[in-house]
Amino acid sequence: LEVSAPRRIRALDPDVVNKIAAGEIIVAPVHALKELIENAVDAGSTSLEVLVKDGGLKLLQITDNGHGIAKEDLPILCERFTTSKLKAFEDLTSIGTYGFRGEALASISHIAHLQVTTKTKDSSCAWRAHYDSGKLIPAKPGQSAEPKPTAGRPGTQITVEDLFYNVPTRRRAFRSASEEYNKILDVVGRYAIHCDGVAFSCKKHGESGTTISTQSTSSTTDRIRQIHGGTVANELVEFTSSDERYGYRARGLTTNANYHVKKTTLLLFINHRSVDSSNIRKAIEQTYSTFLPKGGHPFTYLSLEIDPARVDVNVHPTKREVNFLNEDEIIETICGDIRTKLATVDVSRTFMTQT
Ligand code: ADP
Ligand code: MG
Repeated sequence: LEVSAPRRIRALDPDVVNKIAAGEIIVAPVHALKELIENAVDAGSTSLEVLVKDGGLKLLQITDNGHGIAKEDLPILCERFTTSKLKAFEDLTSIGTYGFRGEALASISHIAHLQVTTKTKDSSCAWRAHYDSGKLIPAKPGQSAEPKPTAGRPGTQITVEDLFYNVPTRRRAFRSASEEYNKILDVVGRYAIHCDGVAFSCKKHGESGTTISTQSTSSTTDRIRQIHGGTVANELVEFTSSDERYGYRARGLTTNANYHVKKTTLLLFINHRSVDSSNIRKAIEQTYSTFLPKGGHPFTYLSLEIDPARVDVNVHPTKREVNFLNEDEIIETICGDIRTKLATVDVSRTFMTQT
């Protein structure tokens, strides 16, 4: 047997590196959308409109009325690690905004056609720019790549077309546009419920009606009613929980013992970012097991704010998971407070039926 010579090690082309990184951050259209929603909310928007075609693979457009982007920043907007939110590594311990790494728009520009139209309140007009692989490109071949003045309202509109057009294996992995649209609706619904004072809408391209529509002035319960219906909204109880020792504060709405379904719905936000936590889900289900019939599960919206110094948001490229100190103690305390609340609701119910 002939032993072949070792293959030489070479540095990857930066473009390849960027494309690989982009594929890790944006696995499906919904991940791009989540980043765009978070950017719009970070920009102080009170209105956020989402338009989707083919489950987001053909078109994802999000229009906000936030502070906009300065024209001078447009040339570096989509470069990797350019951000207005983080300056030093230490800032990660006090990060108050959703985004923080300057990777989202860069990633999107590597795997989709990206167009940005934006107007700050001081600008006399809006500016439109097109991007590819982190850089400004002309709208049409032969034109200049410079942003073009255009009419527009204050705020930003981001248009993402043909996601994964240059990653054919990923593009082919999506079998159903409606499945992707459902994931998009789930995420828009979560932020629509969580973001106080922000109106959300989401619709399919070509359809006249909206699938989600909430007003900026609605209460959290009303927003839950609009998205999940009265059967859930009519059975909600409010709870709060906090403990200075563990540096956290939580508030939420959770269904009482009247309501139960086959599967738990948990809308979880940690420091205003929609995340998953199987530990919190399990603990809540455990809490409800004494209140609900066997196999019954609750609907819970939980907003947990933890001292940023105790949270590591940087453990996952998509920021879907976060680690925090005293996780067990915090979960136990919150569930204890939910249990107390459910017990009192139960008592008043018994009391009412007796009289
Ligand atoms: P990050 O959010 O981590 O800073 P992004 O790539 O998501 O990185 O965005 C880069 C920068 O572009 C942001 O820091 C922000 O200054 C600006 N930006 C992005 N989206 C918007 C928006 N909708 N409105 C205003 N500014 C935005
Ligand atoms: Mg961002």
